[in-house]
Amino acid sequence: CGIVGYVGSQSALDVVMAGLKRLEYRGYDSAGVAVPADGGLAAAKRAGKLVNLEKELLERPLPSGSTGIGHTRWATHGGPTDANAHPHLDNAGRVAVVHNGIIENFAALRGELAGRGHDLVSETDTEVVAHLLAEEFSAGADLAEAMRLVCRRLEGAFTLVAVHADAPDVVVGARRNSPLVVGVGEGESFLASDVAAFIAHTRSAIELGQDQVVELRRDGVTVTGFDGSPAEVRSYHVDWDASA
Ligand code: GLU
Repeated sequence: CGIVGYVGSQSALDVVMAGLKRLEYRGYDSAGVAVPADGGLAAAKRAGKLVNLEKELLERPLPSGSTGIGHTRWATHGGPTDANAHPHLDNAGRVAVVHNGIIENFAALRGELAGRGHDLVSETDTEVVAHLLAEEFSAGADLAEAMRLVCRRLEGAFTLVAVHADAPDVVVGARRNSPLVVGVGEGESFLASDVAAFIAHTRSAIELGQDQVVELRRDGVTVTGFDGSPAEVRSYHVDWDASA
């Protein structure tokens, strides 16, 4: 039940894995990461504790990149298996998405996607989002716009975070009835379900509002409503004790 995203100059995998560890207290049954690197997208995911994912990453290291996302899952749709763990990818393996929450209208969306030839391989409500994002991106939307278009079609509660192989310097996040906090650093940006995931790096945070999408880049963040209207962002200083 945790999400971490990073864009900067550090190893994204290191930042994301450390962030996921800080979120372990929330409880989870599976974990995964994705990194756009070398023109492609690399992902790893495992049921069970983070050590299972760490072991997998030692056995099959991902290419290093400075953009990445990570997830700890608390299964609601589909059992806690490797296949149902996040991230979920589109069939071309170009987009990866992680999700906390529930997408209520996933069955209708699955049917629609299957009708357009998509092959859905997990039992989750989440996987539809990867396929829908891939369609919008292929049709010409940038990743933030693709996320806005897709979110307008979703019902339920969700925090969503995505990366795309063809936009390797961007992480996009969205929230409705589910938490998402942005961290603004020097030449690096973070997002997470909880500031605990990034306070080792920055104390400057932005609470994302309801029905908003954030586009994260090294040099800053842009927040809009699901309808594309610019949102006013107000950063605050996180002053609680990092060791707590
Ligand atoms: N509903 C999604 C799933 O079951 C996300 C669960 C979560 O919040 O971690 O995969």
